[in-house]
This record gives sequence, structure tokens and C-alpha cells, in this order.
Amino acid sequence: MSFAEEAKSDVPLLPEVHSGIPEFLLEKAKGAKNWVFEGRTKPQKERQRLPVLPQGIEREAFFAALDELSGQIGAENVEVNDKPLKDGWYMEHPNTHDMMTILDEEELVASAVVYPSSTGEVQAIVRWANKHLIPIYPISIGRNLGYGGAAPRVRGSVVLDLGKRMKQIINIDPDDHTCLVEPGVSFYALYEAIKEKGYDHLWTDPPDLGGGSIIGNTLDRGVGYTPYGDHWACHSGLEVVLPTGEVFRTGMGALPGSNTWQTFPYGFGPYSDGIFSQSNYGIVTKMGMTLMANPGGHESFMYTFQKEEDLAQLIEIIRPLRISNILENVAQLRHVIQTIAVRGQPRTTYYQGSGTIPDDVVHATAATLPTGDCTWIYYGMAYGPAHIRQHKLGIIDAEFKRVRGARRVDPATLPADEYFWSRDRIASGVPDLHELRWVNWVPNGAHVAFSPVSPIRGADAERLLALARRRHDDAGFDFFPAFCVGLREMHLIIEIVFDRDDPERRAAAMACLRHMIDDAAACGYGEYRTHLVLMDQVAGTYSWNDNALMKFNEKLKDALDPNGILSPGRCGIWPKRYRGRGWEMTKESGNASEGKGVEPA
Ligand code: ADP
Repeated sequence: MSFAEEAKSDVPLLPEVHSGIPEFLLEKAKGAKNWVFEGRTKPQKERQRLPVLPQGIEREAFFAALDELSGQIGAENVEVNDKPLKDGWYMEHPNTHDMMTILDEEELVASAVVYPSSTGEVQAIVRWANKHLIPIYPISIGRNLGYGGAAPRVRGSVVLDLGKRMKQIINIDPDDHTCLVEPGVSFYALYEAIKEKGYDHLWTDPPDLGGGSIIGNTLDRGVGYTPYGDHWACHSGLEVVLPTGEVFRTGMGALPGSNTWQTFPYGFGPYSDGIFSQSNYGIVTKMGMTLMANPGGHESFMYTFQKEEDLAQLIEIIRPLRISNILENVAQLRHVIQTIAVRGQPRTTYYQGSGTIPDDVVHATAATLPTGDCTWIYYGMAYGPAHIRQHKLGIIDAEFKRVRGARRVDPATLPADEYFWSRDRIASGVPDLHELRWVNWVPNGAHVAFSPVSPIRGADAERLLALARRRHDDAGFDFFPAFCVGLREMHLIIEIVFDRDDPERRAAAMACLRHMIDDAAACGYGEYRTHLVLMDQVAGTYSWNDNALMKFNEKLKDALDPNGILSPGRCGIWPKRYRGRGWEMTKESGNASEGKGVEPA
């Protein structure tokens, strides 16, 4: 299919396809798809390096093992990854590789993808992997874009696409305000189910885009933008298949007949949930999630701030307001260049010169937009009935206007397709599909995030921004910073947008990210989450007391996964069979993702 034909082809719909778009966003999805394919020049390439095999197993033994698995879960649920690597786009993403690849596209690829239909089948696959010493890599929906997508860290792993067949919303409890979901439930699907049941008093908490799974996003400690923004903190109860095949339930789920699995997360004894997020210790087959109560009213607001230097004063103003809950949600403080980029036009619309886009071009462009010229934009929301909102909004207005030139933009002046309204929907629990438009900034746009955490302090914000900007300037990348303000800390999310069909730009993006991670660590900042290729480096920055944390993680790995079959290398945790064989990806090791073999059986 040509790109033009592809642009016009159907977008899969919920509920026919578990990862599909809800009807109410279909027109938006069609538009987004069109734009993505308009900017695409990357040809579909012939496959290289086939067949893909995990190290440590011969070709014949591998295919015999796949046949054996086909016998257990059905041949139609076992797919060899030998077709062209199709990148698709957000709503039609691949489960074989990272569509936003920063390495050569044949580097982080699956050997096969399998589709279990139940916890029992997940257990069977895990036992099969142990028998044949084949690495497996579970994904829920596989849209973890910017952090590796569906790609496994070890080339040739068998990807367990859990979401395709395990997609049930097992329960929505309208009284407790909780739900229990399987891996294939997206934020779109949960939102639709709540609406369908007529539960207007329940809210979901979608991330910037609603196509990710509740489970995958929560396990990777993603955020949403209502007051329930910290997803990990809002979950309650897991069902987990361990790397040796046993299944158990955490918290109150361990007590037969309990009716508090989704309301009390801890149960009795050690709180084991923590070791299953950002790890490779288990496969989550069910998860409980709390749902916010509709607050009975909500109102988005937007303030603009004129100068780059306003940042420190503004952040100091934000901290006490956020901690005291006057600022109620995980709001975003964004650089105006993102408000320009999220309109979906390529950067050449605004600037045809070489190098990074000059500040005066950014400001001249911003001046023509409904937001007006500025440097920073704060997108927030007040919740509750009008008189409560007015009280909080009054305080916010007085405080924010202490910054010279601060301006409240009247939402009534903003057109319906303005990005503000997307933030408005997301912060009030309605998933959207707007955010990805800035990926069209460059042809074949891909993105990888640098996501350090800092306290909500002006000096920290300035320091992080300065070190990241310097590296962006050196590498020739436009600078896209956004602060997501949690209760007592901020995630600074800086997305590098690069042409994934250009090896030089990929390498430049990688070098820029590696420099920023090191620079930040030297000042005492660490990432909250990272891309597969950066996990070893980021894990290495958490090195206090002679890497005591990683030693502990490895002890757990060896105890829980003695054969090292589950997501080897994820979050920098390598099983014993891989250690000391050069599998880590660091600044020094270059960009090859594989080591030299594994310990023989
Ligand atoms: P999403 O479903 O939000 O698109 P992914 O499925 O890509 O997110 O999940 C992000 C990452 O989290 C995966 O790469 C995987 O390592 C891990 N993960 C996702 N789902 C599970 C699961 N059910 N059990 C264990 N790990 C998981």
C-alpha cells in the first residue's frame, strides 16, 4: 500500500479491536492518520537478519519449541516475526518492534509474538519458556511510545501480547468507585464502558493519549492529569504470574472470599506490589484501579508567562499551591514551542533555515496564535461546584499574577480545535487523541523522552533546563520541555523529536540523551522512567553505596527467575545467565543491543 492509500484506510474501532479508537474520536483519528502519512518518507524495508532467534538456542530447536507452543495455545496464536516491519502509527502500532526506533530497526525485535487467552495460558507459556530457555517479553497493548513501544530489550525474545485476547473489564464497582481489568483494557475502553453503563459519577484518569493500557501505563508508573494523576498510587491489587509459572494475588486478593481487593491495597505482610512495577519479576494478568468521583463541576484555566526567566519565580509560586491542593491536578507547564508544534504542522512551516529554530521565530509565530506571544503556558483545572472553584481560582489568579506579564487567557476566546480543549478533556477524565501531533515536526518523526525528577523548586527547574538546552543546542534539536507537577515533585518531560529514517539524527538523539542523563545525575537528578536503550545507564545512576540497589534487584531476580527468561535487561536488571557478557548498553558500549551469548544450560 502506498502512503496515500494507507492514510485513507480504515482506523480500527473499539470494541471490534481491543486497541481501537472509540467512535467519538474517529474523525479526529482519521485526520491524525492523514497527517502522519503525509510526513512519511521512510520506505518499508526488506527484512535483514532473518530468522530472528534469541541467543542460546539453535534455529531448529527454536522452531520445534514454537510448534510445541502452538500445540498448547493454537497455531493461530503463535506468529513468527518474519514479515516486513510495519511501523503503522499510534492507532495501528506494531507489536514486533519499536515504531519510534532510535536504533537500527532490526535491533530490538521479537522473534515471535504469542497471544494467550487466560492466566492459565500465560502460566503455560512461562513454563514453556523455562523448559526451552527462551526469553519472553510481556506487553499489555504495547503503546509505550517514547520508552520502547512494544519492543523487547533482548533481540529475539518472544513477545507475549497479552492485550489482544485478555481484554475484559472484569468489574466496575459504582459504589466503591473501583474497577478490575485485564491487560488489554485501554483508557479509551474503560471510559467507553463507564459511559455505556451510565455511571456518570465515575471518572477515569487518562494520560495524554488514551490508547495505552491501564495495566501497562500503571506498571511503568505513567501519569494522568486529574487529581488521581499518579496511577501507581491509585491501583489496588494485582494478579501476577511469576517467572517460574506460579500465580498469586497481592494485597486483599490473597484472602479467599475477600471483598476489599480493590479498596485496600496492602492486605497483610510485606507490600509486594512494588516489585512488579518497572521490573521483570512477574506478568500482571489482572489489576484493580480506583476511579475518581465526578467532582460535580470543573473548569480549565490557562495562564501565559512572557519570559524564559519567569520560570523560577513561577515554580516557587506553584509549590505551596500544589502541596496545599489549591492547584488540584497534575497540571502541565509547557514551553510555547510545544503549543506551536502540537498544531501538527512540520517545523518547515515556520522555519526553513538550518540549526535549531531561533527564539524570535518561535515568538513571532506564537504572537499569531490564539494564545498570544509568551514563553510558558500553564494548563490547569479547578474542580467542584462553582463557589468552590471560584475560591481556588481567585487565589491562583492573585498568586500567578505576581509574575510580571502573567496573563489569564479567557477560554471563550479559544477556537474548538485549540490544544487547550484537549487538556480540558483529559483533566476531566475524557481520553483524547491530540497530543501526538507534534511528532509531525520532522519527517518520519519519532520521539524519545528525557524524564528527570526534581523537587518543585525554581532553582532545580532552571538547572535541569539549562543542562538539557545546552545538549539540545549542541546536537541541533529543537527543545520541547514540559513540567508535570506532582504533589511534591515535578517530572520534567523533554521529548526529542527526530527523523527515525536518518541514522545520523538517531545517533545524535541517542548521544544527546546519554549526555543529559549523565549531566543530570552529576547534579543529583534521576529519571522516573526511561527508554529500553537507556535503562542500563539510568539504572547505573542509582548507584548509592556501591550499587546496593542493583545488587538487591539482582538478588530478587535470581530468586524469582532462576532461568532468566522474563524480560531480561528490562530496567537494567539482567538475569545471571546474561551478566558479564556485554549485554548492557552504555555510553561506552556503543549502540549494539546484544551481548555475546548467554550462560549455557
Ligand atoms: P501500554 O499497554 O500502556 O501501551 P505497554 O503494554 O507497552 O504499555 O507496557 C509498557 C511496559 O510495561 C512493557 O514494555 C512491559 O515491559 C511492561 N508491561 C506491560 N504490561 C505488563 C504486564 N501485564 N505484566 C508485566 N509487565 C508488563
